[in-house]
Amino acid sequence: MSAESSSAEYGLFIGGASLPSSRGDRRPVMDPATNRAIATTAVGGVDDARHAMEVADGAFRNSGWADDDGSRRARALGRLARLLEERAEAFAQLETTNMGKTLREAKGDIGYVVRTLDYVAGLADKIEGETIPVPGARLDYTLREPLGVTVHIAPWNYPLLLAIRSVAPALAAGNSVVLKPASLTPLTALKFAALTQEAGVPDGIFNVVVGPGGEVGETLVTDPRCRSVSFTGSGEVGQRIAELAARRIIPMTLELGGKSPVVVLPDADLDRAAKGIAFGIFGNAGQMCWAGSRLIVPDPIHEELVAKVAKIADGMKVGPGVESTSEMGPVVSKEQLERVVGFVEEARSAGATVVAGGQKIADPPLAEGNFLRPTVVTDVAPDHRVVREEVFGPVLSVLRYTSLDEAIRLANDTRYGLFAALWTRDLAQAHIVARQLEAGMVSINEPPTTFPQSPFGGYKESGIGFEQGRRVVEAYTRRKNVIVNLGSAKPKK
Ligand code: NDP
Repeated sequence: MSAESSSAEYGLFIGGASLPSSRGDRRPVMDPATNRAIATTAVGGVDDARHAMEVADGAFRNSGWADDDGSRRARALGRLARLLEERAEAFAQLETTNMGKTLREAKGDIGYVVRTLDYVAGLADKIEGETIPVPGARLDYTLREPLGVTVHIAPWNYPLLLAIRSVAPALAAGNSVVLKPASLTPLTALKFAALTQEAGVPDGIFNVVVGPGGEVGETLVTDPRCRSVSFTGSGEVGQRIAELAARRIIPMTLELGGKSPVVVLPDADLDRAAKGIAFGIFGNAGQMCWAGSRLIVPDPIHEELVAKVAKIADGMKVGPGVESTSEMGPVVSKEQLERVVGFVEEARSAGATVVAGGQKIADPPLAEGNFLRPTVVTDVAPDHRVVREEVFGPVLSVLRYTSLDEAIRLANDTRYGLFAALWTRDLAQAHIVARQLEAGMVSINEPPTTFPQSPFGGYKESGIGFEQGRRVVEAYTRRKNVIVNLGSAKPKK
């Protein structure tokens, strides 16, 4: 069952209208479960990106969206949440068909977007300045103003969720938005665009330009009207965005990769830990920036825990996301599948043991799609590529330790610092270890878990700035200090 037919056609969304690209280019959008086209989209270029920036700038200045009344924006964001909630099933179907994740996962994503919109709607009329005591007869106060046009560049692994995670607070603060979704997965962002109109967001305040990152993305970021950029994706592109943003001195939020450790202490509840570990690496077919991809286990429980995780991996039903029995869908593209299998093959040749999965599924009917089995690899050296680099697929590497110090050293031995998980029954010890882990987010006895109200961001090369949480709306504002000389006027008696 497919949510779309291959004849479905999407345009760019600029100024409240669905437009063809200025060059007239279109491309097919694929279903990773079948590698067949499910729709086509217009593919924008430099001219379309510039046009979107012009329209967004005009709307920011003239539509009234940025004016003081945050409750108006709160109501529009709340209406958007309700509209998305009503159509959650259709959005989930589309996300699954375009990206590959299971319907259950896609429903979870859409529910998360609804919660994000509701949460951020509640902040839209609470953007406040301060009064500051200063010497003499003066009044000193601050204003929080929207930035202007904000650019958002999103990846393919959580197409709508990661786009709206930064778009929603930018809208709440009164900005206008130009979103560039990943070329592989643009459909839910384009479908969402139509909802913004229904919800009463003025034309031109929310725009979507599909097109190649190097062309459309870079044009958006370097445009003189771009006042901030929020990027989620790979470290390489993140560095490029940082260079471009630095040249224009604009603020940026970068949410980049991870190689997250999962540290199991000897006293952990191993059944619970095994389930959490499997969820944290096989969820979304491992295509999660914060996947718990390095399992760090003490020698005495190594065999028992690996056997439990491998059993879960072997028992998982892999299949098309649209089938209700599927527990893990395909990876997003043929290229991604080859890349992931390449990591496993390289580890195998270097002496690693593949205790579960490891290959593409070559039997029909799954052979047509980008399916591989959940994979567990042991006997890996800490300096091996599968341990050091982000695989971005369902591949768990297992490392051993003999002392807690060694476990913490191994956990922190990465250029990334997005997330770390810890499994133990000793909660006092857990809080102490949590402080020693170099990661922006730590879960204790939980797989990777977050909420719109929890800050989300990484240390080290995992990024700069935070998404989510109460302060996120402020990140899309600038602060102005106003000082007033009250002169010699005296209060009237
Ligand atoms: P990419 O970095 O290739 O792409 C991300 C987005 O950037 C896409 O929209 C892409 O467009 C665009 N892009 C590509 N090149 C440029 C450029 N030169 N200038 C501006 N934009 C550009 O990553 P993937 O989408 O392939 O996602 C996988 C990677 O993202 C993984 O490494 C993963 O760790 C990381 N990630 C991090 C997350 C986090 O929250 N920290 C969340 C999700 C992923 P196009 O699609 O057209 O190439």
